[in-house]
Amino acid sequence: MVCRSARGVIALAALCCVCFASAAAQAATIADRSAPSSVRRSDAWIGTEADRLSGRSLVVSCAHSARGWAQALQAVGLSPAAADEYDGFSLIQLGELHLSPYVCNGLRLGLNASTRRSNELQVAWAVDVLVHESVHMGRFTADEALTEACARTGLPVELHRLYGIAYHSVELERLTKAAALVRRTMGPAYQGGVCLPAGG
Ligand SMILES: [Zn+2]
Repeated sequence: MVCRSARGVIALAALCCVCFASAAAQAATIADRSAPSSVRRSDAWIGTEADRLSGRSLVVSCAHSARGWAQALQAVGLSPAAADEYDGFSLIQLGELHLSPYVCNGLRLGLNASTRRSNELQVAWAVDVLVHESVHMGRFTADEALTEACARTGLPVELHRLYGIAYHSVELERLTKAAALVRRTMGPAYQGGVCLPAGG
């Protein structure tokens, strides 16, 4: 399944996740994949975190440049011209999770209190996307409303876990509000979900 967002009111944020749930679609797209997935050694923690969140052993790829991201999208049949509209995509059955430079940079910026403070929107959204894609993977679901609802629920926990931000702190509140701002600009498919317990 391919899902695209409408461009939101926040110019900085790329908004969309894409997920391929169908094994047939994956088989068709994987055949002409040219760029292997990879994560820089220094980014290994991102893959480790996605594994933990999803409960699976995933292959996580951080695109290092806009060009690399456009190529990754093109390899799965998406328009490279719209690269800045995508935040990530998941090949659910294959366990491949691909993240945009915007998301990977946001995750890195969050590691330092100072850069986190000056990039709150990007950091908050990057963590939301990481959780979102991991929910797709963990639940083997392409349901965007459900997935984003679970990302919304899991975001404060993950911000606390990744960056040590205290629960009920002003910073945590600002970050969750920033993510909510972006979330509201997502397409209808992402809205109105309820994060039901997995397997329920
Ligand atoms: Zn999604």
